[in-house]
Amino acid sequence: MGCNVLRIIALARSVFGISTLLAVSIFPATALAQGSESRITTTFVWVEILSALILLSSGVAIWVIARNQTKRIRELKREAEKLRDADFGEPLPVQPGELGELAAVFNDMRDKLKATTISRDYVDSILSSMNDAIIVTTSDGTIKRVNKATSHMLGYEEQEVVGTTIDFIVSTGKSGTLVDQKPSGVPREAFFESKFGESIPVSYTCSSLSGKEDDSGDKIYAAQNITERRRAEKRIRYLARIDALTKIPNRMQFQHLLQRCIARARRSANPLCLFYIDIDAFKEINDTFGHLAGDTTLETVAERLSAVLPDDTIIGRLAGDEFAVILDGLGPDENGRKQTDTLAKRLLGRLADPFFVQGHEVFMTASMGIAYYPKDAPNVIDLIRNADAALYHAKKSGGNVYSYYEPAMNEAAVERLMTKSKLKRAFERDELLVHYQPKYNLETGEVFGAEALVRWELPERGMILPSDFIPIAEETNLIIEIGEWVLDKVCEDFRFWQRSVSSPGRVSVNLSLKQLRQPNFTRRISSILRSYEVSPTSLELEITETTLMENPERTIKLLDQLYALGLHLAIDDFGTGYSSLSALQQFPISTLKIDKSFVRHVSTNPDDATIVSTIVQMGQNLNMDVVAEGVESEYQLAFLQKLGCTYVQGLLFGDPMSSDSYLELLLAQVEGTDTHRALFA
Ligand code: C2E
Ligand code: MG
Ligand code: MG
Repeated sequence: MGCNVLRIIALARSVFGISTLLAVSIFPATALAQGSESRITTTFVWVEILSALILLSSGVAIWVIARNQTKRIRELKREAEKLRDADFGEPLPVQPGELGELAAVFNDMRDKLKATTISRDYVDSILSSMNDAIIVTTSDGTIKRVNKATSHMLGYEEQEVVGTTIDFIVSTGKSGTLVDQKPSGVPREAFFESKFGESIPVSYTCSSLSGKEDDSGDKIYAAQNITERRRAEKRIRYLARIDALTKIPNRMQFQHLLQRCIARARRSANPLCLFYIDIDAFKEINDTFGHLAGDTTLETVAERLSAVLPDDTIIGRLAGDEFAVILDGLGPDENGRKQTDTLAKRLLGRLADPFFVQGHEVFMTASMGIAYYPKDAPNVIDLIRNADAALYHAKKSGGNVYSYYEPAMNEAAVERLMTKSKLKRAFERDELLVHYQPKYNLETGEVFGAEALVRWELPERGMILPSDFIPIAEETNLIIEIGEWVLDKVCEDFRFWQRSVSSPGRVSVNLSLKQLRQPNFTRRISSILRSYEVSPTSLELEITETTLMENPERTIKLLDQLYALGLHLAIDDFGTGYSSLSALQQFPISTLKIDKSFVRHVSTNPDDATIVSTIVQMGQNLNMDVVAEGVESEYQLAFLQKLGCTYVQGLLFGDPMSSDSYLELLLAQVEGTDTHRALFA
């Protein structure tokens, strides 16, 4: 036993190497000298065991503490690694002590990082799910990011374009540079170029990317591919301008071209000559051989005119069997007259050649009226009318002849002068009226509002429609006074209706170019609205495409002011103008009105049906309301309903009505006794 104890002591000594030191300090030298050997040995052994145990337990404690700290540090490291990989997990337990404080800071950091990462992921998922191509650039046009739709449109992966300038993806040859583009948010157009060299028309906006902490000047481009829209637009413009049967310009297009020729002739002080041609007894051809033969005859006329006249001559079909030809540079001087005579005879001669329809030989002749610009008329309308007066004269002489216009032929011109002075008097005497044509919501059949239409009641002639006097008023400044009077009257009526019904709907008023050109137009409108306490949001202004495009820059500013007032703006007679929808997009317009000339023939003319459905679709794509005017039949109503057109107006629901009748209609609707709804079922 003693031996074993000694061995343990030796071991403890060798392990700790301190026993002697302890023994010396605990037991004074005198005791050692006096005590027996065995007692000393036992005490010594116990002291050594005790120290060994103390040392051992502190070692264990230190080891446990160290292990615990290491575990928590490892945990922190693991969490940091997870954070690096955007894996947020659960927050760390927070214990007292410095590591606990570190864990609390760490949790805080985790929460913040989680919030920003989630919002970044959110933005990323928005960007990648957007259909518009989104391109973010620095202020100097260097691309920083693009979304999936951009890659899809252009065929580039994000990394292929990041770092290049925006011009890298732009057809700069067609669109110029976009690098220096100032952000404005206004829609513009450009051509992008894909990886495969394809040029893609786009409508885009460039805005500045401004956030709370972002004043970096970064720009964001949002672009839409408008290839399809361009194609559709081109098609409706073509269909709207070209006569489907003869493939030559229709009346609208012909008048437009004549307008351009006259403007050119005016600038260069040259004359021009207009031939107005009408087939003699066309009705007989139609009645005898049928409509198919009639169509063939019309095609033959167009072909023959083209064949006889010089290549660049403008030929148009103005109506049924009426054609017209513009001869640039041909004047009424002696030499010009000679040339005109020769050409007119040649044309009539060629037209009179017999031709065959379904095995029958058809003999056809034509008559012709001739008028010169500027000698016989200074503008399109008068030139056509005077050539027509000359044609009428030729017909009266038995047909197959031509006549030159002479002032005596045109009694209408005299009447026009008289009308002008009468109109002025009528206006001064307060003889004009405003009628209202209700507009209906196609989905619900509810009255949505009305269009104000001016009327003139002449005691000896009854009601005169605006188409017969507005153009005359337009020739003088009378249209400005009439326009303002209409606005005033509409607001007065509106205030009256408001006393009986809570919402009389939205009333639209037609604007003429001259009104828009007035320098203080916005102020005038807002003062009228204020004086009748009518909200601007109850009013819509209808403006034709031609008026809008007359001076686009000025008009945009004006319309922006009107829009800011709260007024609604509509494009009237859409489809009959010459501007592109893209050009019209720069105006703050919310409604497209399809011209009644297209609606009229949707059941019989597939081209018109295409035009109408394309316009409705284009309106939907651009988030615009679409109003179809001139709805006369249930077929047209059902057709428009199927297309998803928004509103309709037309004679199907009755004539435009007085202010009182419109109020009655609104009241009937409130009471549920209105009768038109069955039509929409
Ligand atoms: P708009 O603005 O296109 O007006 C629609 C015209 O179509 C109106 O002719 C209306 O009576 C007519 N209409 C409506 N539904 C039908 C239908 O189902 N069938 C047919 N055949 N016609 C229908 P309205 O009243 O003769 O006006 C002709 C044009 O005169 C208007 O065309 C507008 O441009 C102009 N106008 C009317 N009132 C004013 C006015 O107060 N100021 C100005 N500046 N122009 C006006
Ligand atoms: Mg209108
Ligand atoms: Mg219209």
